[in-house]
This record gives sequence, C-alpha cells and structure tokens, in this order.
Amino acid sequence: MSAPSRSLPGDPLPDGRPMPSADSVLDGLHHPVLVIGQDGDILYANAAAQVSLGGWIAGLAFADIFPGCLEPLDRLASSGRTVLVTSKAHSQYRVLFGAVSADGRVLSLVPDDAKVVVASAELDELTGLLKRNALNERLEGALASSTEPGDVAIHCIDLDRFKIINDTLGHGIGDLLLKKVADRIRSACRKDDGVARIGGDEFVVMQSGVADIADAERLAARLVDLIGRTYVLNGHTVNIGASVGVALAKPEDGLRDLLRNGDLALYEAKRAGRGRFRVFETGMDAALRGRRELEIDLRRALALKQFDVHYQPFIDLHRDEVMGFEALIRWDHPVRGRVSPADFIPLAEETGLICKIGEWVLRTACATAATWPNEMTVAVNVSPVQFKADSLVATVVSALAGAGLPPHRLEIEITEGALLDNTESVLTTLHALRDLGVKISMDDFGTGYSSLSYLQKFPFNKIKIDRSFVQGAEAGGDSEAILKAIAGLGLSLGMSITAEGVETQEQLARIRSEQCTHVQGYFTGRPMPADGINSFLTR
Ligand code: C2E
Ligand code: MG
Ligand code: MG
Repeated sequence: MSAPSRSLPGDPLPDGRPMPSADSVLDGLHHPVLVIGQDGDILYANAAAQVSLGGWIAGLAFADIFPGCLEPLDRLASSGRTVLVTSKAHSQYRVLFGAVSADGRVLSLVPDDAKVVVASAELDELTGLLKRNALNERLEGALASSTEPGDVAIHCIDLDRFKIINDTLGHGIGDLLLKKVADRIRSACRKDDGVARIGGDEFVVMQSGVADIADAERLAARLVDLIGRTYVLNGHTVNIGASVGVALAKPEDGLRDLLRNGDLALYEAKRAGRGRFRVFETGMDAALRGRRELEIDLRRALALKQFDVHYQPFIDLHRDEVMGFEALIRWDHPVRGRVSPADFIPLAEETGLICKIGEWVLRTACATAATWPNEMTVAVNVSPVQFKADSLVATVVSALAGAGLPPHRLEIEITEGALLDNTESVLTTLHALRDLGVKISMDDFGTGYSSLSYLQKFPFNKIKIDRSFVQGAEAGGDSEAILKAIAGLGLSLGMSITAEGVETQEQLARIRSEQCTHVQGYFTGRPMPADGINSFLTR
C-alpha cells in the first residue's frame, strides 16, 4: 500500500483544481490576523482586520490601532501572560502570538466577546464636552432631520504642539490647557451645535443650520484664531495652534462619510503647515490614498531592502582628481519601477520615515567609503527632519565607528531648510558634528532662501551651487551673475565651491573660469552603483 501523495505548495489539488492562495484563506477568516514588523509596524492585515480595525491599516504602527498597548510586543509575547488589547473603536481582543519570521511576527486577534468596552457616560469628565459616541448620536439625528444638503457641517480639530506642552510642563498643565481649549471652542459655537472631545487633543464640532460654505468657513477660521491665542496657565505662558478639517454633509453621505471627509480635510490642513483650516474637496481622498500607498510601499521598501545607494564622483578642479563621491539613494520598486528621490523623499520627510531611511543611507555609505582608496570622501545628504530628531550626532558617531571610517572622510550635506526653524539647536548639532571632524556642506545653494546670513552663522566647509545656475549660465544674464557672486563669496569666506549639474565641456570651462573649486555632474561622472567605482577610478 502506498502512502497518499502530499501536494506541495503551489501544486494543483489531486482533482486538478488550483490550490487556494494563502490570501484567500486568510481573508476567509472571521478574526483579524496581522503581521507586525520588528519596529512595531503592521506589514499585513487580513480582510477581517481591515473591516474591524479601521480599514487600510497596513503600514501603521500597532500602537496606533491599539493606543493602550504600551509594552513592546516581543516582551508581551515572551511574558506568557494573557494579553488583551483594546482597539480605538473600543473592541477588546485576546492576542495569540504566532511564529516570528524574517518578515515579522504573526498575530491572531480573537474578539473577547461581550467585552466591548462601553463608554461610561455621555460626557468627557475633563472638559464636560460630548464623548465620541454621544457626538455620533447627535450627528445621526442631525443628518436624519436635515432638510437641506450642506446644512450640517463638522469641524475636526487637532491641536498643534499639545504633546510638547504636555510633556514639558506636565499633565496638570496639559489638562488645564484642554479645559481652556474646550471653553474657547464652546464660546465660538451656537447653542444647537455639538462639541465633543474624541481623543487626547482631538475635538469635533457639529455645526447645524449652516447657511453656506462661507458660514462654515467663518466658524473654522474663528476656531483656528481663538485656539491659537496665548494661554496663561498657572503662571506659564503657553502657545499652541489648531488645525481644522471642515466637511459639509451631503444627502447621499452617511455619518461615516462625513467624519472621514472631515478627517481628510484635517490631514490636508496639517500638511499645508498646520494652524489653518481646510474644507473637504473630492479628490482629497484619491490624493491621500496615493500618498498612503506610497508611504506603505516606503515602509516595506525599508524592511525588504529595496533601497540601494549610488555614488556620484566630485572632482577637484585644481588637481583634476576625484576627491570623493556623493551618496544618492535609489529605489527600485517591483511594480512602480525606479522612483526618483525627488518623489519619495518629501513623503518620507512628512511621515518621519526619513530618519530610518537616512540612517540606513549613512551606514551604507560609510561602510562603502571605508573600502575606497586614497582617503576619498563620501558626502551624505541629511534631511532637515533628521536634524529635528535628537539622535543625529549619535547616529553619525555609530555609523563611522561601525564602518571604521575616520570622521574627516565623511561630509554631511544640508539644505537651507535645515536652518529655517530651531536655528539654534541645528547650529549646536552642526558644531557637534564639526567637532567630531566631519565636514559640512551647504547643498543646492541659491534655490531656497539663499540667505547669506546662514553662511555667516556657520563655517561650512563647502557650498554646492545648484545646477540651475550652472545650466542657466549658458545664456549669460542672471544665472551667470549669481554663479559668479556665490563663487566669489565662497572664495572670500574660505569655503570650497562645488558646481553641480555640469553636463557639457562648455559648462565645465565656464565654472573653471568662475573659480569654482569642485565639479559634480554628468559630464564628469554619473551616479553609479558601489561596485562600479573601482573601474571608474582606473579609467
Ligand atoms: P542633490 O543632493 O542636490 O543631489 C544631486 C542630484 O542631481 C542627484 O539627483 C543627481 O543625480 C543629480 N545630478 C547630478 N549631476 C547632474 C547633471 O549633470 N545633470 C542633471 N540633470 N542632474 C544631475 P537624485 O539622485 O535624483 O537626487 C535628487 C535629490 O534627492 C538630491 O539632490 C537630494 O536632495 C535628495 N536625495 C538623494 N538621496 C538622498 C538621501 O539619501 N537622503 C536625503 N535626505 N536626500 C537625498
Ligand atoms: Mg546633495
Ligand atoms: Mg544638490
């Protein structure tokens, strides 16, 4: 008797039907299944997870979905305790920890039935405003009885900088501030409007009897203005701001649509720089979805090692020698193809992902440079967002030590954007980096604010003149004058001057005559993979 033959993954079933895919099996389950990456981000969510935990959650942090879950999952998994977590929608789940693979950890969430955490009362204890559920009921009622489309609007309000106040001045002051904010919101509203606090520093106003968009805009502007005025709390002067997303109810929309539209508009208000309001427009949805997709892809790219670093040579014009290479990140996405840094770096900055990506580039670039001959330098671009995190200096120290690269062979390129806010703390970081022996360049000079005072505030080793001036100088005129002026300035301040984007012999001749000290451009060498550098140098 022969043993029944077993089918292997991907084989058809014995009767020829195809084997069901893992996705269809997982999506058939009634309870949520998640895969969590090492950093706590959700890498995968099955259909049940998406339905019950708030839609498209892959790419978000586990702690965003279960705000009360403060301990790292690894610790919880190894504790052997029964772990219960409560979702933002107040449902409780028991966590079953599955296997850990290179991709992450599999979690099954079993609904802890009947334990739907019921909101204790209608009103928020701290502020006396409505709670989320009570607001939703009021909204349902208002939508059902509204006679005209658009006569109900919601204002989703998020406080800017509340967390900093709460962290630095303490929760007592934080609570006091929330109460004051609540009072100010109430004072801007009419009797029939509903005001709710739906999260730590998130509020929603339901405006009824709205005459037209302008009516809703007036209230939103008033909220931004009122909340943004100075507070005096127990002798502390406190300034915060508010971002507001406004949505007007449409007859075909339900409560969920209305709240989602308000949220989308709020997101746009924050993106536009906070401290302002935005009214929902169709299209915001698609735009956000596009960015969310790109963001999730970016997180995956980091986990799946889809990034690479290419290196573009820069040449010393006095010695006609390659002095080093600039590290430039490359992303080959399996479906999107090569995505330009110009398209994904801004989003990585917006989401904070740039800190992890930047650290990876730094470590990779230092390790690669350590294999180069002749003390050649590696230049690494560092985003303004990385300067805001406190860890930049420590990261640089660790990357240099890890690679065994002497500090003077690393050059950090910053743009003027880095010096825009918190100039003092950025200058402190820059000085700390310089004290290590690392070189600092000002990148893309001439394109941003081109403030000469920045050059005075810090002794940059190098100024890189943006390629628009090099390429625009062809026809003479402004670009040529600016190129000349910056080169002259660098010369007198004792800073090296690199001309970027030199593509032709003529451009090279021109920047030589303008006394630029270095050149970097397609004419002298395009960005190349690390393994192309040796043959480039021997040529
Ligand atoms: P950047 O730092 O000014 O880098 C120079 C850019 O100009 C690179 O574009 C380079 O490929 C391109 N380039 C060099 N020579 C020429 C030329 O002769 N002609 C033309 N048309 N272009 C030339 P890339 O690699 O697409 O990077 C664009 C920008 O993205 C960079 O500008 C930098 O701001 C940012 N970036 C790239 N990698 C990183 C990174 O690892 N971290 C951060 N924060 N930003 C990065
Ligand atoms: Mg650069
Ligand atoms: Mg540049």
